[in-house]
This record gives sequence, C-alpha cells and structure tokens, in this order.
Amino acid sequence: MPRYDFRCRSCGATFELSRPMARANDPAVCPQGHPDTVKLLSTVAVTGAAGAAAPAPSGGGGGCCGAAAAADRPRGDGTSEATVHRKVTARRK
Ligand SMILES: [Zn+2]
Repeated sequence: MPRYDFRCRSCGATFELSRPMARANDPAVCPQGHPDTVKLLSTVAVTGAAGAAAPAPSGGGGGCCGAAAAADRPRGDGTSEATVHRKVTARRK
C-alpha cells in the first residue's frame, strides 16, 4: 500500500498515512486532530516516477550504427550484389 505524506497547516506537523491509491486524495486529519492538511509528494511516488523514466532507450542508436557498418562492408565481387538485388526485386512483386 503506498504511503502519502501530509502536512498540517494548523500546527506545521508532517505525517505519513498508508492508504489505497483510490483514497489518495481523501482528506487526512493531523495526529493532533487538525483537519486542515495538505498532501505532499510522497518519497515513494517520486522515486517510482524517476525509476520509470531513467532507462534511456539505447536500442535505436545501436541499430543505426549496425546498419551503417553493414552498408559499408565490402561485398566482394559484383555477382553476390546482383543476387541480393534480384532477391529484393522478387520480394517486392
Ligand atoms: Zn496539526
């Protein structure tokens, strides 16, 4: 169950509550009994968002470099290249 941090605007105390996500925005009452509280961004939520966004997609760059290397590779005699072109043409039909 996620934990949410609240701050009391009456006495300035901060406190934590564990509650279902569906009730995340329900009003919380300060441990001192003050009803005037605001929900803070919880540490758990911030960490989760950062972790989800952190892994940068590296597959695109690697694939691009690999394709360029393959295109630059000497193909040898012209016979094999002609064979490749024929295969591509046949696939298009
Ligand atoms: Zn309070």
